[in-house]
Amino acid sequence: MSAVSRLSQFAALGKDTLIGMAGRGELDARFIWLAAKGATRYVGKVMAGQVASEDDATNAASACSSCPDRHERHTTQGGKAITIGYCGPKEEAGKTCGCLTFVTVNGLVRPAGKTLVSGETCTQEKWRT
Ligand code: SF4
Ligand SMILES: [Zn+2]
Repeated sequence: MSAVSRLSQFAALGKDTLIGMAGRGELDARFIWLAAKGATRYVGKVMAGQVASEDDATNAASACSSCPDRHERHTTQGGKAITIGYCGPKEEAGKTCGCLTFVTVNGLVRPAGKTLVSGETCTQEKWRT
C-alpha cells in the first residue's frame, strides 16, 4: 500500500479517533501530525494527490525545524517526546504563515502538513516543494 493511501486510511478515522490513538501510542510516528491542529487543509491536499517528493519534503521540514521563526508545541504521546512545528504562532505578512510544517518524534524531524504538499513555498523563500 502506498504512503498516500495509508495516510488517507488514517485520515478517514477522524481527528478524535486519531488523537486517542496517538495518546495511547498506537499511531505510527509518520501519521502523528494528522491529529495536530492545522492538519486538515493539508490532509485534503495530500489526498488529492498534491504530494511533494521525499527530497523536497525532507529539505523543507529540515529548514522549518531550524528556522528562528518556527513555533513549537511540545507533548508526549505513548512515551515518545513529540514536537509539533508551525511557521510562527500566526500569520504575519512576509514573515510567517502559521501553518503546520514538521513533527519531531524522539528527536527525528519529519515533514508534516505544508512540507508534505507539492507546490508550496516558504514565506521567506527558504524552500519550495
Ligand atoms: S516556512 Fe519558512 S519562514 Fe516558515 S518556519 Fe519554515 S523556514 Fe521558517
Ligand atoms: Zn501557510
